[in-house]
Amino acid sequence: MPLLKPPVTGTKPISYFAQSDITCYVLHGTRGDLLIDTGLPQTWRAMADWLRSFDVRYVFLTHAHVDHDWNAAKLQKQGAKLLLHERDRGLRQHYLSQPVQPTLPKYRARNVMQRIGGAFWNSPHYDADTYFSDGDAGMLRELGFDAEIIPLPGHTYGSAGILHQNVLYCGDAFTMLWGKPEITPHAVSPAQMCDSLRTILHLQPEYLACGHGLPVAMREAEPVMRDYLRTYAKSDGKEHHV
Ligand SMILES: [Zn+2]
Repeated sequence: MPLLKPPVTGTKPISYFAQSDITCYVLHGTRGDLLIDTGLPQTWRAMADWLRSFDVRYVFLTHAHVDHDWNAAKLQKQGAKLLLHERDRGLRQHYLSQPVQPTLPKYRARNVMQRIGGAFWNSPHYDADTYFSDGDAGMLRELGFDAEIIPLPGHTYGSAGILHQNVLYCGDAFTMLWGKPEITPHAVSPAQMCDSLRTILHLQPEYLACGHGLPVAMREAEPVMRDYLRTYAKSDGKEHHV
């Protein structure tokens, strides 16, 4: 078994925990803290240590994929309230309940593997305490966070991010998985993903805090997004479908 690399953590302006290509974040509120995404079994122990310096009352799942919600059940048992978009309710523990399409032709082979792996690998069962909808953008303010929920469908139907002090926590709507800004390899709908990229471009946060890899300045991510939108528009979406 390969040795697990030590986690990388950071604080200002973004509190993050990154290990095994997974990145989780904490937001401070007036009545406790909020964790964004929960990692995998192999990141649990180090992440739990990291979380001791916070008072996590809420867990926001950017979407219901196993590498984001694996530890949700554990955190809920510890008393945290889980928040998930209602459109990902049926995706919990049922990866193939939503389509999985490559976002670029080069991801076709990877996409096949993704579907095979996804069919067999499910996170421990949990039920979210709140299933929010697109109309609940202001819900986090009521919980004491200076933050807004931004629906970012495309990677999954219920994908969502959080805009907090010029940082957009965007889950897998965009990725730094390979250490550089990239389009996420798979989506339920590349067309919806494009719409969410347009939303991000419109919001113009200073930083994007992705679910994989370290936070990136928007000025570095923007050309990659614009290039994909141009290519996708030219292909009329056709070449991106399997
Ligand atoms: Zn995902």
